Amino acid sequence: MHVPSAHAGTVLSAPTTTTPPTPGSPPRGVVFHGSPDRPLVALTFDTNMTDGMLAELDRGTVKSFVNQTAISELRQMRVPATIFLAGKWIERYPDVTTSLAADPLFELASHSYSHRPFKTPCYHLGRALPVTQMAADVDQSEQLLRRFTSQPTPYFRFPGGCYDQRALDAVAATGVVVVQYDDVSGDAFGTSVNAIVDQTLRSAKNGSIIVMHLTGGNTAPLTALALPRIVDGLRGRGLQLVKLSELLASGP
Ligand SMILES: [Zn+2]
Repeated sequence: MHVPSAHAGTVLSAPTTTTPPTPGSPPRGVVFHGSPDRPLVALTFDTNMTDGMLAELDRGTVKSFVNQTAISELRQMRVPATIFLAGKWIERYPDVTTSLAADPLFELASHSYSHRPFKTPCYHLGRALPVTQMAADVDQSEQLLRRFTSQPTPYFRFPGGCYDQRALDAVAATGVVVVQYDDVSGDAFGTSVNAIVDQTLRSAKNGSIIVMHLTGGNTAPLTALALPRIVDGLRGRGLQLVKLSELLASGP
């Protein structure tokens, strides 16, 4: 395992800084990629929903944090995907969640309930979740997921990709498997389709876990434009797109 080259920066501006959790010694118990021995990669998508984003919806400054175009593209291109859902996103979009849960192309995982940072600073995600509330936040998202699917994955991804050993210890009791990524697409607040496509394809290799977003709006506006080229590029290199559970079943 190695440390990802950058954080996803889910709800924030230009997340290009490199801040590995523990330089030189990757934390134990965090999955960054699958086996390098087989030509498999997993496309994973996060859906964020913070109180600030809910306020934007209520004010009408953002119409929707569902990237329906990207979801349709995944279906059209028959791309299996693992989708990490924030609990507050699920509550806002129960019908979309039902539709994703019913589609055998997709599997669902937790991206926390509140999408508050488990370690700060974390881009512009605001105040950290108190350590004493971390496990409860994860549990709440898991319970919510179970209302939509009888087969949720055990995977959990930290909001903003921000965590430390204290956060890992705090969520350990919930039994989730923490999954980060080794290929940051840069679609969060991305401003260039070419840059997103190039960066994603350049970092992709056997076993890669790629992180993208399905929130569209002002959080990841170019995802749907970059996605078809990314999928074609990966497939053109002989990399097979699989769900995370399949990637990780083939070896660590
Ligand atoms: Zn996120």
